[in-house]
Amino acid sequence: MLTAAREVSVFGDAIAYFNEAASLLDLEAGMRRLLTKPSRQIIFSIPFQRDSGELEVYTGYRVQYNFARGPAKGGIRYHPGVTLDEVTALAFWMTWKCAVVDLPFGGGKGGVTCDPTTLSKGELERITRRYAAELVEVVGPDKDVPAPDVGTTPQIMAWFFDTYSMHTRQHTPSVVTGKPLELGGSRGRVEATGRGVSLVALAQMAEMGIEPKNARIAIQGFGNVGSVAAKMFADRGCSIVGISDVSGGYYNERGIDIAGATAYSQEHHSLEGYRGGDRVTNQAILETPCDVLVPAALEKQLTVENAPRVHAKLIVEGANGPTTPEADHIFHERGIVVIPDILANAGGVTVSYFEWAQDRAGYFWRESEVNERLAEIMLENFARVRELAATRNVPYRTAAYMLAINRVVQSMNIRGVYA
Ligand code: GLU
Repeated sequence: MLTAAREVSVFGDAIAYFNEAASLLDLEAGMRRLLTKPSRQIIFSIPFQRDSGELEVYTGYRVQYNFARGPAKGGIRYHPGVTLDEVTALAFWMTWKCAVVDLPFGGGKGGVTCDPTTLSKGELERITRRYAAELVEVVGPDKDVPAPDVGTTPQIMAWFFDTYSMHTRQHTPSVVTGKPLELGGSRGRVEATGRGVSLVALAQMAEMGIEPKNARIAIQGFGNVGSVAAKMFADRGCSIVGISDVSGGYYNERGIDIAGATAYSQEHHSLEGYRGGDRVTNQAILETPCDVLVPAALEKQLTVENAPRVHAKLIVEGANGPTTPEADHIFHERGIVVIPDILANAGGVTVSYFEWAQDRAGYFWRESEVNERLAEIMLENFARVRELAATRNVPYRTAAYMLAINRVVQSMNIRGVYA
């Protein structure tokens, strides 16, 4: 299951974080073995017809990592870098993410190895429908509930919902979250991950005495997470000195006009050609002089190579797995505080949980209600992580894993392992 070279295995890195926390919890060997293996991994072919008429075959994945606390939950990624190893790591992280904010879900993730930027709307629809059709028996509101991730959108969730509902002959909006509002989506879901990132960041900044109006923030990734977090920070008076996306990085020590950059990026589908800052590389954004750094793109961006050159005092992981364990140790030694992915970006899945609950009740909440409950869940569980980190004298990441592992293990112990 893992790729041969240790250094390229995302799941291997993820396990390293788990092991650190597990050893502090004195987790017994059998439980450790169980929790470091996915419950189910599904790989399948996705034949689809290109607009040209040509038949193409892509590979699809769904990994259901753990079901102890509820149905599997996690996004679907459309990206050229999708592999079984990556999807497994992402499903593993979803397990701890759902547990750290105390949602009644296990962990899952899916993906298709493809470049959605080169596909037409019709091609995306056909791929999505075939992907959903392949999974009809194993997904469902009480089995596994997908959602958007890198490269997927509310429209893609709508096609997933429709295909599932057609096959099962039942209107089932709660099979997938992150849907458009017209189909049972939740108010506030699109902004939820970025909102959660800014909530925990601002809470920690207050703790560290960093005043929002004096804070310089750099953000890698200007998609759904990075651009929304940037707006929330800017609304609080912070200065966003650096942003980036696949086209490169943009640095402006006087602060980037976030509304302008967002409008530009929406219009051009990328920041390519954006003139509101000096052009640097996507990687250089991570080393930009700033107080707070938000990696909000992909895995393995902060490594042993660039970690010694990071300026920030605080790193808030908007992406899943942006920091390698080696880089994480360097940050710890340098006294740089890291709010880990499983907590920092849990806002998205938290509002997915609200969406699932609203769909099942057939009763929809006001946006202010969604945002209030999101803030309550994120800040309450962040406080628990902070408390545990202080009493056990461990970094936030270790404390977050400890809290999450404890919750999963408690559920497993009460249920009993069907062995
Ligand atoms: N893809 C998002 C994540 O990594 C959201 C998952 C969900 O809402 O289920 O957390």
